[in-house]
Amino acid sequence: MAREVSVIAIDGPVAAGKTAVGRELARTLGFSHLDTGIMYRAITWLALKNGVPVEDETSLGELARANPLGLVGDDGDQVLAAGHTLGPELRDPSVDRNVSMVSKAPPVRRELVAQQRQIAGRGKIVMIGRDIGTLVLPDADLKVYLTASAENRAQRRWQEMQERGQAVELMTVLSETLARDRTDSSREDSPLRPAQDAWELNTDGLDIEQVVQKIIDQVSSL
Ligand code: C5P
Repeated sequence: MAREVSVIAIDGPVAAGKTAVGRELARTLGFSHLDTGIMYRAITWLALKNGVPVEDETSLGELARANPLGLVGDDGDQVLAAGHTLGPELRDPSVDRNVSMVSKAPPVRRELVAQQRQIAGRGKIVMIGRDIGTLVLPDADLKVYLTASAENRAQRRWQEMQERGQAVELMTVLSETLARDRTDSSREDSPLRPAQDAWELNTDGLDIEQVVQKIIDQVSSL
């Protein structure tokens, strides 16, 4: 590396490969990684479990503040929330359908962004999400914005769901993927969009290793 790189932000739409790439990139660099999507998913799971309406921004904010999240598991794919260790539950179709509504709520975002910044303060981290480069870590050493065609992203998400035993039509996954992107991109509070200084990479036709290698090349060129 030409200059010391300690904080890398990876943003992008649903199923652009951010999580798998971020995890592998972190492993290669010897960094930790945080997939911030699981934090929004954990609050969504708690809201559904406790009957908090996903339109009630004030109550959602209170729920998030009352339940600071713990990150557990070797792969960074589990969250400790209100005494529950959540893993596969975070990928439930009910969570998928409601998470963008919960994420729109500014009080929820304020709380989770504060937790994310605290974690990033330790340095040597790859943080993955929707607003990491634009809002959470505007001073990140490298900001990557991953994209892919909607068809490839839906296909990827559908494949993951098949592997988890969730029977669902590809066309349904495609329309839900586009709906979630629409909500994430059009919300008022920190919408999904590339930071001005983000490096954009389309992952169509590339496997995880190829994407990671391209990012490493980018890191080396800094
Ligand atoms: O990345 P993943 O699909 O797990 O994210 C789930 C949802 O969480 C996104 O669709 C988005 O609504 C929300 N999210 C967010 N900001 C982040 C990460 C995720 O709003 N930094």
